[in-house]
Amino acid sequence: MPKRFYEQTRQERLVYLAEQGLITAAEQELLQKNFPLSDEYANHLIENQVAQVHLPLGLAFNFVIDGRARIVPMATEEPSVIAACSFGAKLIQQAGGFQTKSTERLMIGQIVFNDVGNPAKLLQTLAHEEQAILRVAHESYPSIVKRGGGTQSVQYKKQQMNPQSTSFVTVELLIDVKDAMGANIVNAILEGVGAYLQTKVNEEVLLKILSNYADHSLVTATCKVHTRDLARGIAGEGNKIARRIVAATDYANLDIYRATTHNKGIMNGIDAVVLATGNDFRAIEAGCHAYASRKGTYQALTQWTLNEEAETLIGELTVPMLIAIVGGATSILPQATFTQKISQSESASDLAKMIVAVGLAQNLAALRALVSEGIQKGHMNLQAKTLAATVGATDIEVPKLIAKMKEKPTMNQEVAQLLLQELRMENNQS
Ligand code: NDP
Repeated sequence: MPKRFYEQTRQERLVYLAEQGLITAAEQELLQKNFPLSDEYANHLIENQVAQVHLPLGLAFNFVIDGRARIVPMATEEPSVIAACSFGAKLIQQAGGFQTKSTERLMIGQIVFNDVGNPAKLLQTLAHEEQAILRVAHESYPSIVKRGGGTQSVQYKKQQMNPQSTSFVTVELLIDVKDAMGANIVNAILEGVGAYLQTKVNEEVLLKILSNYADHSLVTATCKVHTRDLARGIAGEGNKIARRIVAATDYANLDIYRATTHNKGIMNGIDAVVLATGNDFRAIEAGCHAYASRKGTYQALTQWTLNEEAETLIGELTVPMLIAIVGGATSILPQATFTQKISQSESASDLAKMIVAVGLAQNLAALRALVSEGIQKGHMNLQAKTLAATVGATDIEVPKLIAKMKEKPTMNQEVAQLLLQELRMENNQS
């Protein structure tokens, strides 16, 4: 029987990818060298560069999204994330895979006027200037207009700290940034429009900046899971696990302490793909957590319901996902081209849908483990590998040390260190 992907050496995995036509010989060579980033590029990306930080890049399987099989690139330092994600996707694949949908894909840019004494008058002037605002916005970044994007509409709002204080008045531009994430594009447009408005309005401009709360770029992934598949063969258990998954989600909606960890698990998957594709994970994190608070309290990002009759668990995840396949670091980091190709992301919207499906699979796997055998069992198997490496076990010692650790009730660095000494003494004696 051929070795499974996770059983192969890194070299064998690269050969497999080349044989499947997923990478070229040149890419195989580049991957072999772990995508070195030249000093020239590194200096181009950040200031004061002294070294580079590396994260392992792995692949998750079993994803069928809107009928298309996809391989998911994930960069993470956390053991068990990729294995759990692939497992969650497999449960979902067995019931037909993921379905996705998205809203329009627009980024919001804000121009904020401070200390406005007569907001009604300012709002009236701004409304009168709307056509000019749109014209200046287009002129400030003509190439995005040529690509079929640019500013689509303008909206205004007035806010006050308290009824006695002066007001903030904000102009918001809703901008189609096509396949980019758009921060620089939007900021450039805001500079142009801000400068124009200063010639028309005698008010102080406080800020001109994009918003990472991308609620005009929402992406939803939904899935079904046969409850029997949750139980790993124990009849009747699947329904119980499904009910417990629903209850765990209900609880997260009531308790911020649980909701934060529920959503951290989702971000384990989302961030890993965002990083693998060279995208700005801080922007995505900020947007997702803000969206989790949209009802006034911080809640779970996923929803799970049980259809008892159909013996099916139904899952849904909606988050803002303004991800890029061009621009920013995606155009510079060498792995970004590879990860984009391997994930077959033809557009930013395509990549966004994949990322949200990953978040849903990750949440399913985490919740299933939590409400059944507990998170530590699966996690510690992989954590044992990390512990073995941490205490300095060689490639030959690692499997033997893991086997010894599994026999112990507690698995930690001290135990691993003692067991490694024991293993080495046994080897010296034999
Ligand atoms: P860029 O400044 O790189 O702009 C996108 C580039 O992609 C443009 O040069 C554009 O070319 C080019 N491009 C090529 N093809 C396309 C296409 N199909 N659609 C759209 N653009 C295309 O990046 P962004 O404006 O996307 O900004 C992202 C960067 O900004 C990230 O690195 C992010 O970390 C950073 N950032 C984030 C902030 C935040 O999140 N708050 C704040 C400030 C910066 P052309 O110009 O010819 O149209």
